[in-house]
Amino acid sequence: MLMMDFINLTSFDMFMIGSLLLVAFVLLIIYIFLNIQIKKVIDVINLSIIMDLTVTANKRLARKTSAHASVALLDQDVLECPICCEPLKIPIFQCINGHLACTPCWKKGKNICPSCQKPVKYEFRCRAMEKVVEAARVSCPNAGCKKNISYTNLSSHEGQCVFAQFYSPIRDCNYSCLSKDLFNHVRANHRAALRGL
Ligand SMILES: [Zn+2]
Ligand SMILES: [Zn+2]
Ligand SMILES: [Zn+2]
Ligand SMILES: [Zn+2]
Repeated sequence: MLMMDFINLTSFDMFMIGSLLLVAFVLLIIYIFLNIQIKKVIDVINLSIIMDLTVTANKRLARKTSAHASVALLDQDVLECPICCEPLKIPIFQCINGHLACTPCWKKGKNICPSCQKPVKYEFRCRAMEKVVEAARVSCPNAGCKKNISYTNLSSHEGQCVFAQFYSPIRDCNYSCLSKDLFNHVRANHRAALRGL
């Protein structure tokens, strides 16, 4: 039956079938072409995403490796309590207008800000300043000492620093020297005073 139909096809039928096949072929070609183009676009998008990630990663790496690059603080005053000029210690509290003072100063001022007369609330910690104080490193002020100490440890280092200058314990003697030389100084210059002790 089918065979018969096929044989009986008119030339018009052949033309229709031929053109349908042609259209199908053209559609196939278009499909393949579009597919390749879409793949290319996706590749470009993927590549740009990868590039973005790489750039971000590199930036992060650069930031990590430059974590040791030091930042100089030109004015050490910013690390001090503006009221008593003592080094700020963690925790650091601020008034509701953001003025800082050390904890003893807040207590002395009855928790009223000396700058703006507003109260300090002890839940208002200044975490940013605490971070700065924590990260700050200072060089020991004693001549000869090459130590670089964290700012929070400065006062404890000053108490132990072998380069700290000590004044002669004898009244009216303004001589100062390192602690290791002090005994020799007293023995050499103040024998009489020592005898009197
Ligand atoms: Zn203070
Ligand atoms: Zn204030
Ligand atoms: Zn020192
Ligand atoms: Zn002396």
